[in-house]
Amino acid sequence: MASPMNGGDGTHSYSKNSTLQRCGLSAVEDAIKEAVMQNVETDKLLCGSTRFAIADLGCSVGPNTFHAVETIIEAVQHKSSTNNLEFQVLFNDQIGNDFNTLFASLPQERNYFAAAVAGSFYGRLFPSSSIHIAYSSGALHWLSKLPEGLKVKDSPAWNAGRIHYSGASDAVVKAYAEQLEEDLENFLRCRAQEIVGGGMIVILVGGVSHANVQHRSTVLFTFVEAILIDMVKEGVLAQEVVDSFNIPIVYACINDVRRIVEKNGCFEIVKMEMVEPVDIATAETNVVMHLRAAMEGTLIDHFGEEITEQVLVRAMRLPTHMMVDAAHGGGIFALLKRK
Ligand code: SAH
Repeated sequence: MASPMNGGDGTHSYSKNSTLQRCGLSAVEDAIKEAVMQNVETDKLLCGSTRFAIADLGCSVGPNTFHAVETIIEAVQHKSSTNNLEFQVLFNDQIGNDFNTLFASLPQERNYFAAAVAGSFYGRLFPSSSIHIAYSSGALHWLSKLPEGLKVKDSPAWNAGRIHYSGASDAVVKAYAEQLEEDLENFLRCRAQEIVGGGMIVILVGGVSHANVQHRSTVLFTFVEAILIDMVKEGVLAQEVVDSFNIPIVYACINDVRRIVEKNGCFEIVKMEMVEPVDIATAETNVVMHLRAAMEGTLIDHFGEEITEQVLVRAMRLPTHMMVDAAHGGGIFALLKRK
């Protein structure tokens, strides 16, 4: 289970260190607008009601979620024949998310009613047929939990000396893949109940074009792994503490995502393609700060604050070109329409 992103709006917060994720959205903003305008028939969806519900699944603390929501609302308004729609935005994240910061920073001039829905998007979150558009960016690569085998010392999937599936044994790779499949199936099953016929899901998530390709972001994990192994060698950390730590993230292969959506059978695939992030201000973007904002909680849960601080201080010394390369890891952009 993902630990929440860093809350608040301080130096290490997600709200100050999430411009890379924003670049992912920028790359597909026009495509989202176009898809909404071409596929969402507001009159049919609403059947006389004026409430249009948008859910952001894994919204974190902002500001990216606000840009996404505004993009979607603009497109719906452009398409709608009436101007009396009332938008309700349901901001979803895990219960540990800093919803206070999110709500304190909601844009003052907004044309929607905001509500929080706390809980995992791998389970039910909303009443049946109550959502018109669901959006999820940079969140579905977090697994609901670590694959079981990775926690058991005598299991073939015990991931000694590694913290991720990159470079790991076949058993580890398989265990991660099975967990991803189970999670995506649950995600789609729940959304199929919650999204009205003709409604849409917009997904943006880190992913790869072929099964044997490593996502560039895994380079960062390999660095953190090397730092941890160094700390074991220096006697700062016990080997077993590293062996039992694994990052609960999978960068899915696009063909697997397509297959799982088809197996679910409730959604038409309007679009399913790889995207490259745009506008990354490579020189200024501090990728380690992004890593910290997103991963600090996960590290602290396992290693405690003191060791995590040491890991992050060492990570700050990593070569910039590696960081920049990792930041350019592409993603999957999917638009699904509820049949
Ligand atoms: N959508 C934002 C934030 C991405 S960070 C953006 O694009 O910038 C990923 C977020 O997903 C985190 O806030 C994390 O808590 C959330 N998340 C991860 N797993 C989740 C789950 N199972 N249910 C709900 N939220 C989840």
